[in-house]
Amino acid sequence: MKIHCDCGATLHDADRSRKAHLIPDQSIEDLMDEIDRAIETPGGLLRSKEGACMRIRKRIIEITRSAWQCPNCARLYLDDPKGELRAFDAVEPGGSGGILQGPADR
Ligand SMILES: [Zn+2]
Repeated sequence: MKIHCDCGATLHDADRSRKAHLIPDQSIEDLMDEIDRAIETPGGLLRSKEGACMRIRKRIIEITRSAWQCPNCARLYLDDPKGELRAFDAVEPGGSGGILQGPADR
């Protein structure tokens, strides 16, 4: 997937330093409860470690939405709840770049 930003830059889906997954607050408690159940259920995780991992991964994929940031103008692109791509301009052009980077990218 490629996103063509209005500034002329092209964002590539594979560029993980400019991409993140967002979890709405309305969903994160359910995810935490699912992880707790996988770990704390007697025999649950140990009995089916692979099943517990797959169930949690599936749940994470269901509740997360993708976000990208343009490296040139810092514009944010986010998938809305319907999966439509939405653009948000940075208030501080260029000054708020790298907002989606993880600790390894800093
Ligand atoms: Zn841009």
